[in-house]
Amino acid sequence: MILVWHRADLRTHDHPALHAAAARGNVLPCFVLDPNLLNMPYSGQPRIAFLYSNLHALNASYQAIGSSLAVRAGQPEDALLELARLSGATAVYALRSYEPIGRARDERVRVALQSSGIEFKLLDGDCILEPGSLKTLSGGSYRVFTPFWRNWAAQTHPDPLPAPRTLEPHGITSLEIPAPVAAVPLPEAGEGAALERLSSFIRTVGLHYDAWRNLPAIMGTSHLSMYLHLGILSPRVAAARAGAAGMTAWVRELCWRDYYRHILWDEPQIAASAYKPAWNDFPWRDAPDDLTAWTTGNTGYPIVDAGMRQMLTTGWMHNRVRMIVASFMTKHLMLDYRTGEAVFNEHLLDGDMAANNGGWQWVTGCGVDAAPYFRVFNPVTQGEKFDADAKYIKLYVPELEGLSVREAHQPWTALRPPKNYADPIVPLGVGRDRFLETAKRHLKGAEPLEPRLLE
Ligand SMILES: Cc1cc2nc3c(=O)[nH]c(=O)nc-3n(C[C@H](O)[C@H](O)[C@H](O)COP(=O)(O)OP(=O)(O)OC[C@H]3O[C@@H](n4cnc5c(N)ncnc54)[C@H](O)[C@@H]3O)c2cc1C
Repeated sequence: MILVWHRADLRTHDHPALHAAAARGNVLPCFVLDPNLLNMPYSGQPRIAFLYSNLHALNASYQAIGSSLAVRAGQPEDALLELARLSGATAVYALRSYEPIGRARDERVRVALQSSGIEFKLLDGDCILEPGSLKTLSGGSYRVFTPFWRNWAAQTHPDPLPAPRTLEPHGITSLEIPAPVAAVPLPEAGEGAALERLSSFIRTVGLHYDAWRNLPAIMGTSHLSMYLHLGILSPRVAAARAGAAGMTAWVRELCWRDYYRHILWDEPQIAASAYKPAWNDFPWRDAPDDLTAWTTGNTGYPIVDAGMRQMLTTGWMHNRVRMIVASFMTKHLMLDYRTGEAVFNEHLLDGDMAANNGGWQWVTGCGVDAAPYFRVFNPVTQGEKFDADAKYIKLYVPELEGLSVREAHQPWTALRPPKNYADPIVPLGVGRDRFLETAKRHLKGAEPLEPRLLE
């Protein structure tokens, strides 16, 4: 008997630990409701609800092949030892975690299991190519994305593995899986739903992805991030199917996902601090009212407010808009990117340590291969360019209804500005210059001083 311990890998298809365990013996699939993960300050209620709905779905996947998911609550090492004792299991198989908190937990579990004579085996399966597997010509790890992508794309990717057809029943009872309670509508749960969404995305968007991906008013991207985050969909299956359909631009996004995981694996300290150390004592403003206005979507800048309100009401935000709201927060408002990262983590269904941290450090300019710090997105021109008919901003900021497209992007210029919508929180030029001057002073010598505005 082998325990297959699910964590952020809530699927039976292309699951190397499950596949290896089923090839060796009987399997007891399990999940541990670990208070350290569920009660973290920013675990995020929508994401926990989505986790619960997907535990129900994973249990149904197992029931369909003759087994079931055994759920326990508590410290993972205690729960696994109890399950091993009850089932007579001699080994625990799981997929490797790349986040610092997961790595520390796995080390603890390894020691506890080994001291009881139980094997603990970690296999790779959360990335398409595993951290440590790609080396530069000089044998080091990549820090720049483009050469990483070239090497990544040139490699043979592992073939996805099938789900087991049947498993023996194990007879171990389970805790009841909590009912999902969320303030946002949850996407359909389960690997079947994720695979179906992948197929429909390939069918309906397919080769248009490159042209549509920046338009927040349309379904131009896959909306698969929450499924990939919890491992409900295997990234290798996603890449193989999209690659076969010629969707290189989309596969490149999956490579970004791998890239940030590789960086986090090599540089775990970036979870808490900037990759470029000069940013760690940056004089961010302490401005709670500005933070509240940004968090609640009341800055007076429509595309920023629409993005934040999209996240608050749906648990997801379009990538282009994530860049705009993050740039506005860190540059125009000069607020610490780590606070923005935590707000995202609290509200996003796809809140993911590697991608979220990577995205925030990229926008701020303090990460690996980041945008230059002097790149300041202008939220008005960005809105006019990517939401040209103002559909997206009017959907999430109904106060703009009745304004022309031009006025909707700059409501303060309207003949009759909407009475119930915020005035701009800071004039764009004032916010931008405050940030650039502070950054120039602070980063002197640590960054190229070239404060030209790119957008
Ligand atoms: C400030 C900021 C914070 C972000 N936080 C997160 C986060 O917490 N979780 C998250 O999954 N993504 C995050 N992203 C990346 C990106 O915005 C989302 O992955 C994407 O919007 C999800 O929508 P989609 O599934 O339709 O993406 P698609 O465009 O369909 O892309 C397919 C998949 O590729 C991956 N991907 C796409 N872009 C990126 C990227 N830039 N970095 C890493 N992976 C990527 C995701 O898994 C995504 O589901 C962040 C980006 C920024 C700028």
